[in-house]
Amino acid sequence: MANKPTILIIYTGGTIGMVKDYKTNALKAFDFSRILEKIPELEQLNCEITSVSFDVPIDSSNMDTKYYVDIVEIIEKNYTQFDGFVVLTGSDTMSYTSSAISFMIENLQKPIIFTGSQLPIGHIRTDAKENLITSIEIASARKDQRPVISEVCLYFEYKLYRANRTTKISAEHFEAFASMNYPALAESGVHLNFNEALLYKTKNRNKKLIIRKKLVTDILVLKLFPGITATVVKAILGIENLKGIVLETYGSGNAPNEAWFLNLIDDAIQKGIKIINVTQCSGGSVILGHYDTSVGLKEVGVIGGEDITTESAVAKLMYLLSEDLSVDHFKNYFQKSLRGEITIK
Ligand code: ASP
Repeated sequence: MANKPTILIIYTGGTIGMVKDYKTNALKAFDFSRILEKIPELEQLNCEITSVSFDVPIDSSNMDTKYYVDIVEIIEKNYTQFDGFVVLTGSDTMSYTSSAISFMIENLQKPIIFTGSQLPIGHIRTDAKENLITSIEIASARKDQRPVISEVCLYFEYKLYRANRTTKISAEHFEAFASMNYPALAESGVHLNFNEALLYKTKNRNKKLIIRKKLVTDILVLKLFPGITATVVKAILGIENLKGIVLETYGSGNAPNEAWFLNLIDDAIQKGIKIINVTQCSGGSVILGHYDTSVGLKEVGVIGGEDITTESAVAKLMYLLSEDLSVDHFKNYFQKSLRGEITIK
């Protein structure tokens, strides 16, 4: 490790990297290689900052798995040269992207901090500067010659979260994210306080970094609502080539226990479609079999997603489907905490 930590900023797009064109009043991406000119405060940080940018920055609504691969390839190429990575994306899909990156990289021993902002960097009331500066500080933090963070995180509005635990909760407030089932890993106030007991610990530091670039995208999220019809469910489950479903159920994993519904779910599972039960509630866990209305789901082989977020379940499903696992192994892996994304009781 060099004396000063070296940090690579990866700009993919989003509001954070935009400035107002005062002639047209429109927001446009600025040249990220000139970031030090825009935020001279960065010079005061005790680290060396380099930045790379997507050739064409994207609004995160256009985020796609091919961009996930671009992000992991940039990290892979620069992994040994840099001590930490700060990834800037739009906040709209940041929880999906950062969750996916957490599964695509195994044996990570360096910090990858996702951040963005609700207001562009040039805006007078911007939240971009604080989010970016503190993310860089977090990515540079060391203890006993080692990085404090060795996992994929998301930093926004004074809080550092485990990325695969987060959800975007507000399109208005600066506090745009929440992590309902896992406490913040750090809080920034007068001091930057890490909650060390909550940080992901690398089990074996000698294990080689593994980067996975294959993701299966033949999946969907099916959110239940009272009144959903057999015609609709049947049409969805009959989609050609469908490999997996994140089924958003009620409360602690409950769904209609009428025969038409359970039979359709059973047929889909018999065809090899993996169905993960995730709650629509923002906090709490699926407990299959706790109510009569989840016993049938358990019996036909629906996999309980425990307290995983929908965003993280989508990412984990894409990743595990690419691994060609037997039905039992798939279930075991899904219900295991691979990157701290679920709480094991
Ligand atoms: N629409 C923007 C995006 O997600 C919002 C943001 O940057 O936070 O790219």
